[in-house]
Formats: sequence, structure tokens, C-alpha cells
Amino acid sequence: MASLIDKFTNEPKIAYFSMEIGVRSDMSTYSGGLGVLAGDTIKSAADLNLPMVAVTLLTKKGYFKQEIDIYGRQTELPDEWDPNNFITPLKERVNVFIEEREVYIGAWLYVVESMRGPKIPIIFLDTDLPENAPEDRGITHHLYGGDQAYRLKQEIVLGIGGTRMLDELGFEIKKYHMNEGHSSLLTLELLKRYKRDIEEVWDEKLVWDVEKVRNLCVFTTHTPVAAGHDKFPYELVKEVMTDTIPIDVLKEICCHEHLNMTMLALNQSMYINGVAKKHGEVSKGMFPGYEIHAITNGVHSFTWTSEPLKKLFDKYLSGWANEPEIFVRIGRIPDEELWEAHMEAKRHLIDYVNRKTQSGMNYDTFTIGFARRATAYKRADLLFSDIDRLARIGEGRLQIIYAGKAHPKDTPGKMLIQRIFEVKERLKDKIKIAYIENYNMELALKLVSGVDVWMNTPLRPLEASGTSGMKAAHNGVPNFSVLDGWWIEGWIENYTGWAIGPSPDVPADPARDADDLYYKLETAIIPTFYNDKRTWIRIMQNAIGKNAYYFNSHRMMRRYVTEAYIR
Ligand SMILES: *Cc1c(COP(=O)(O)O)cnc(C)c1O
Repeated sequence: MASLIDKFTNEPKIAYFSMEIGVRSDMSTYSGGLGVLAGDTIKSAADLNLPMVAVTLLTKKGYFKQEIDIYGRQTELPDEWDPNNFITPLKERVNVFIEEREVYIGAWLYVVESMRGPKIPIIFLDTDLPENAPEDRGITHHLYGGDQAYRLKQEIVLGIGGTRMLDELGFEIKKYHMNEGHSSLLTLELLKRYKRDIEEVWDEKLVWDVEKVRNLCVFTTHTPVAAGHDKFPYELVKEVMTDTIPIDVLKEICCHEHLNMTMLALNQSMYINGVAKKHGEVSKGMFPGYEIHAITNGVHSFTWTSEPLKKLFDKYLSGWANEPEIFVRIGRIPDEELWEAHMEAKRHLIDYVNRKTQSGMNYDTFTIGFARRATAYKRADLLFSDIDRLARIGEGRLQIIYAGKAHPKDTPGKMLIQRIFEVKERLKDKIKIAYIENYNMELALKLVSGVDVWMNTPLRPLEASGTSGMKAAHNGVPNFSVLDGWWIEGWIENYTGWAIGPSPDVPADPARDADDLYYKLETAIIPTFYNDKRTWIRIMQNAIGKNAYYFNSHRMMRRYVTEAYIR
């Protein structure tokens, strides 16, 4: 019997490796931005008919399902999904050695199909096989769960196991693209494969054809803080990774102190990039001596446009989904129709929020949306720096919708959620605030399309790119954000949206961000919304015509092709 995979192995592919991939909301194999970006990458690659295969972990127990009590305390529940409902098991097996045990890895196939026909396979790796020891069956169960040893085991399965699985399935790979450092052990597997056959070696390092491997590898870094990069002590590496190149060679190739997955990927990749221009610069500062490029992220236009806006775009901008450049003609859409489509998305969201939280929100009140991982640097409570001032500005004319999960171990992140609940209670007679549980892709689309303004308040320069604001722009929802990540590139004041805090070429001034936020809300944003609809709709148009036009994953993938893949 021909394998299901055969129809995909007839031409050399780009292998795209990612610890998490979010292709659809109900397969919880993602936690946030990194995974959703991976999903959008693959969807655009399919639309553009690029030769790609993606590799990730099955994580069938997901990240977690979030519940929040009336005090804002988060609890984490398992978020299991049944692979049999979505993907097809393949018969192929490979193995890796972990703690000197042989661990078998199976694969499941999901096919991303473009509306235009092309298909891209995603290989989900799974160690939950009867032939494995009980402790190994759970390696691929939880996304970002467990301890350091658990993470290292996952990365062995992803990087080394994934590379072997592609071989086993019959793929010929012309580039390996590592989406973040989690998969960088794949470079060690490639080194073993391209080991030079030299009789007399005077220097052990020369056996390893580092240049050959580098020419095959592309690395995208996503994290602008050193603490965010996976690092493993060599003691642990020796214990867990019992089948690899000699540790002293590894130290030589990567780094001496710890096995730092980012350093390994940097040293082994021919093309390296950050995910926004600013992030490229920040990364150069973090890793002096490396040539680091920048390809600014984008989102998959079709996935991140709400139904009412899709209908409108189909009517006036035919072909937009596969050619987002067509947004350049946004001016063809009559003002009233754009507004009505937005209001339809907004009513849909407000009904949903009222159903979920009984918060009694209105269709006509100016609504700010804020949803992202609840973690300290994103400052979800910046808006609450001066609650009396906020109440004065917003009483009766502002409502705010929040969502976001805190990582189970991120206590300050959890406190942020509690803080929002406190303020929600305190302001309830003046400003309606809702916090929606369990942020995921489905909720994200409702939020980014149904609010009037999308807000982001990170501490500069910690937001590598941010992508939810690009989703908002696709729905004609302008951004009001700190000038960090992608927004530095998309922002034109009073034209595509508004900045919070100082311009990108002067030092960050976190103490003044809140002041600026209140000032603009009071003097520019709220008055324009209520008193000057024409100008407001012009800004909505610009969000689409200037921001969505550029910050989409079709443009992003064309750049990966021309700058990284065909080199
Ligand atoms: C888009 C998305 C994100 C990433 O948004 P940021 O702006 O980068 O924080 C996170 N989670 C979900 C569910 C998303 O859809």
C-alpha cells in the first residue's frame, strides 16, 4: 500500500520546525503567538504553493484550559483533544535514545489545504506508543509543561526525531527552518549525517562538516531577552541525550557554559532573522558578531478576517485573500458599508461577551480590546495606573474587554489578572470591564474584529513583533500601542492609529507611557470616535490599506523565499 505521504515526497522541500503550531482553534497544539505564527506561515505557504513540510509535537494534552474565579484567580485544566478527529496516523516509526533507552516516535499527518488547491503536510510527532517505557509515552503530551529534563526530551524528539522522521517518510529536504531555538538539535543530527569520511584526523572537529550543515539551516529568533532562551546544563545533557556528537565537540560548536539552544541555532545557520526591524537590531545587540536580518511577521489574511469584513472585501476587493496587496484599493469601499460591517462584527462580540460575563456592554460605546499572554512586561494594567483619571475620561463612554492566559508558573502574570478583576469591580458603575476566559484563536478573531481600538502596552523593547495588532488591522480596527515590534513600522499618528509613549528613536520612558495613554484617549481618540465619524472611518480604512496591506503572512513568506530559502 502506498503511504499517505507519498504524494508529498516528489520534490525537495523546506522543512519548517516549530515546537507549537496553531492551525485551528480546537487543536490545542499551540499556546500563543509563536504557534499561531507557525500556522499562518504554513497556510500562506500553501496558498503560494511553496514546497514545504512542517514538523511539530502532537501535544494531545494541549497547553491548558483557563478558568478564572470571581476574584480573578486562574486555574489550569487539561485541554485534551482527540487526534483521531483531526489527523491521520502514519505507520512509519523512528527512534532516538533518551537516558540510554530507545524511544520510538510515531507520526500523524495533518494536511493544510489552500482554497486554491495546494496542500502542505504537517507531521505531528508522538511518543505515546505501546512499545515505549511508560515514562517516555508522555514526552509529547504537554506543551510547555514539566521541568528542564522534560523540555530537553521534547526537543530531542522534535529536532533529532523530526529530522529522522522526514527521512523515514521519504522527504528530500533542501532547507531546515527553525522557528525559534527549540528545534536546534536538528543541526546535530545533520552534522552526524554529513560527517566527513577522513582517514587520518589530526583535529576531531574537522570531521564535522559544519559549513555543509550551516548552508542547510535557517533560524528565526523570537525572543529579545536572554532569559527567554532555552539553556540546559551539560550535566543534564549528558544524562538525557545519550546519543549525540561528542560533548566536547558540541561545546566547541555551540557554547561552553550551557547548551544554549539559541546559540546552537545561531552558530549552525546560514541565514538568521528577527521578526521585526527593531527586533533584528535588538538581536544584533544581544549576539554581536552574527549577521542578523529582519523579516517582519505577518498574519494569514483569510484566517484573521471576520465574516462581515470578508463579505465586504469579496464585494469590492475580489482576490484579496490570496493577494493582500489588493488592500491598496481600500478606498473603493463606501464609508457606510465599512462601518456597518464593523458594527456587525462588534455586535457579535458584544453579544458574546454579555452572554459569557453578564457585563451588560453596549453596541454603541467605544470599546478597547486587550488580549495577550498575561505576563509582567505586557503591562495589562498600564491603563489602570491612575484609576480616577481613567474614570473621569471614560465614564459612560468607554468599555474594555480583556483576555489572556498566564503561564502556570508565572505568578506575577496571574497577579495581573487579579488586578484587572479588582479594578473591574471598583469601576463597575462607571466603566464596564470584562475579562473573557480561555483566550484562544477563536476568541482572538472575535476580539480583534469586534472592538473599536486594539491596545498593546509592552515595556520596550520586549515585544519582538506582536501579531494580534495585525489581525485587528485586517478588520479595520486601528491600533493604539507602544512603539515596539511591528507597530514601529505600521504606525502613522492619527492616520493608521496612535502611539503610546515616546517615538522609537528616543529612549523608552515607561513612567510617562500611562500619561500619554490617558492624554490621547481623552483628547484624540474618544472625541474622534464620537464626534468625527468621517475621520474615524478614514483611520479604519488606513488600518486596512496601509497595515493589513503589508503585515500579512503572504508578504512575509515571499520574503523568506527570496532572502532565506533560495540562498
Ligand atoms: C495572535 C495570537 C497571539 C499573539 O498575539 P500577540 O499580539 O503577539 O500577543 C496569541 N494568542 C492567540 C490565541 C492569538 O491568536
